[in-house]
Amino acid sequence: MNNFVSDKIKNSITKSSWIRKMFEKGGELKKKFGDNNVFDFSLGNPDVPPPVKFFETNANLAQCRNPKNHSYMPNSGYIQSREILARHLSTVYGKNITADNLVMTSGAAGAINIMLKSILNPHDEVILIAPYFAEYIFYIDNHNGIVKIAESSENFDIDISEIEKNLSPRTRAIIINSPNNPTGKVYTEDNLKKLAQLLEAKSETNGRPIYIISDEPYRKIIYDDNKVPSILKIYKNSLIANSYSKDLSLPGERIGYALINPDCAGKRELFDAFTLCNRICGFVNAPATMQRIIIELLEERIDVSIYEKRRNTLYDYLTQTGYSIHKPEGAFYLFVKSPLNDDIEFVNRLLEHNILAVPGAGFGRSGYFRLAYCVSQETINGAFPGFAKAILDI
Ligand code: PLP
Repeated sequence: MNNFVSDKIKNSITKSSWIRKMFEKGGELKKKFGDNNVFDFSLGNPDVPPPVKFFETNANLAQCRNPKNHSYMPNSGYIQSREILARHLSTVYGKNITADNLVMTSGAAGAINIMLKSILNPHDEVILIAPYFAEYIFYIDNHNGIVKIAESSENFDIDISEIEKNLSPRTRAIIINSPNNPTGKVYTEDNLKKLAQLLEAKSETNGRPIYIISDEPYRKIIYDDNKVPSILKIYKNSLIANSYSKDLSLPGERIGYALINPDCAGKRELFDAFTLCNRICGFVNAPATMQRIIIELLEERIDVSIYEKRRNTLYDYLTQTGYSIHKPEGAFYLFVKSPLNDDIEFVNRLLEHNILAVPGAGFGRSGYFRLAYCVSQETINGAFPGFAKAILDI
């Protein structure tokens, strides 16, 4: 007998097995060789400490014994938090954002889920750009949508002709992610404007909006002089999913927001829908204490120069050793071209040197592997000989 969970979830468990497989493999290797001799680049779990002010604010709030601070609240979140956040985001995005453009969420993942639940009719299509964050596939399926895959261009820009090929009368949304996981790509304003132009025309033909869902948890993890353009200024039917998981290193605290472009048609309906969906997706509301903490930390961020230094050392070493990589403009991932055509075979080769990476197949783009450099400089340095040996005889 093997019918304890649904066929669909059984299938999803198999499909999402790459990260799990690496996690299990990592555990095995660490047991055998010791933690310091295993170089785990598989997980995007931020390791740079949160700002000191997070711990201080948390400690101060813990002193307060007002039971109301822990009650149910409006499902969109505290009005005070949304008002303060709206003022701050008006400056970030260059638009007049108000509290009723914002719903506090359980991270960016929570935001994307309530957006999809709010806008999708069964069999509506959502375009993803490959390579993509694999969880999107499950989120779209959660809300009865159909996934359409558009390949990115060679340097991971949005390939407009690929998007055009995937548009149909049922297209409801496209999810973009910049800075990108897994590539570190930041889309240029020009690239986004071309996308906007195409979607505006197609929305007109379809007789309903095609939304851009811009997933931006890495917005503040950005290097050199790169800038993340404001999608709100480029496309009116845009929705932003964001969180403090990466730029404050607080992924376990599950705090983020869903932002509706103040120029978006039907913004009031969207706000009401997001609020209801927060409840009926089971999040109910974003964590109360974190809604209070986050408004004290709006000017804070982790020390991005730590990630930048790691990006530089890892990128420099690997490219000098013969690997081919698009230099990431943001986030904390390298998406490396696999020296063997078969990325899974190459990732297994890296495993022989105790290096854990995730095959590109796990992100919808075979022929690459992803390295998450939210690991210590010692881990990076320790892995160098293994990376060199793995490519030696190819
Ligand atoms: N989107 C992308 C591209 C991510 O990489 C992640 C987490 O790794 C998420 C969304 C989920 O982030 P959150 O913790 O804010 O839900």
